[in-house]
Amino acid sequence: MRAMYYEAFEATPEIRTLPDPTPTPGGVVIKVEATGLCRSDWHGWMGHDPDIRLPHVPGHELAGRVVAVGRNVRRFREGERVTVPFVSGCGHCGECRSGNQQVCEEQFQPGFTHWGSFAELVAIDFADHNLVHLPDAIDYATAASLGCRFATSFRAVVDQARVTGGEWVAVHGCGGVGLSAIMIAAALGANPIAIDISAEKLDFARKMGAVAVINAREVADVAEAVREITGGGAHASVDALGSPVTCFNSIKNLRRRGRHVQVGLMLADHATPQIPMAQVIGHELEIYGSHGMQAWRYDAMLAMIESGKLAPQRLIGRHVSLEEAVPALTAMDKATDLGISVITRF
Ligand SMILES: [Zn+2]
Ligand SMILES: [Zn+2]
Repeated sequence: MRAMYYEAFEATPEIRTLPDPTPTPGGVVIKVEATGLCRSDWHGWMGHDPDIRLPHVPGHELAGRVVAVGRNVRRFREGERVTVPFVSGCGHCGECRSGNQQVCEEQFQPGFTHWGSFAELVAIDFADHNLVHLPDAIDYATAASLGCRFATSFRAVVDQARVTGGEWVAVHGCGGVGLSAIMIAAALGANPIAIDISAEKLDFARKMGAVAVINAREVADVAEAVREITGGGAHASVDALGSPVTCFNSIKNLRRRGRHVQVGLMLADHATPQIPMAQVIGHELEIYGSHGMQAWRYDAMLAMIESGKLAPQRLIGRHVSLEEAVPALTAMDKATDLGISVITRF
């Protein structure tokens, strides 16, 4: 198979021909038809993720066709169209048994714990617990774009923050995660407020359903600006970027008993940010993380996509080839693209 491959962190990846994978008894091999590029791939390539062992093939947002099936797999057959959550469960630990595969104790993450989908083929273990059948109406690029940012935002807004119609939802950062959260909150009938430092991204956020926008470069105090718009603070708030400043503001801008969800990764120097704990106590705030979404919850999201309530395809920017994905990956920290880049040519 052709794949993007690196032997050292921060060294330019190359496109190589590698041996085709074979399925484990409980796993499958998928012919990758589309795979999204994500900032987590950049973090991995930089060496920020302790799960990655070298040499490595990145890529964790994928959709494709099953081409080989292990002997113990019951629910999937060759030829079926599938996608997979980027955090996959082992199927037998306590968390998996409770339906929380997204925090599995022995999780399988293509592109992190195992070789990923920037390749013609990818092996996925524990297939019965992790694969999701794709409805015919959802194309591969759209399905790949759900893999991490959109599904994580869905869990953040729907399951963790429990957003309901009419609520104010502050979204800090308007990259893929933030725009997804805005679209999902708007689809639930809530009022999303977009916060970013790019006027262009804020314009796009309005098109995705933001009812108000705040340019963090143009206000003295972001939390105060949210409080003003919402008459006292947001009911729910998402840090979609993952930085000490956005994390702090996302908690600070909540009304009493508000819910903060941290979706943007906080790695390396950012792993232990300051938070306004006095306010968390005095106002009974709730603080959550959101770490992917378990396969069985995809049904709710796919139903909203099929009915047209959610249109994740609007967040797709460029379709690129495997070769074009190399410079896109290595420059991802400086990327100014509005939409998600998806590899659709291998
Ligand atoms: Zn597990
Ligand atoms: Zn991702």
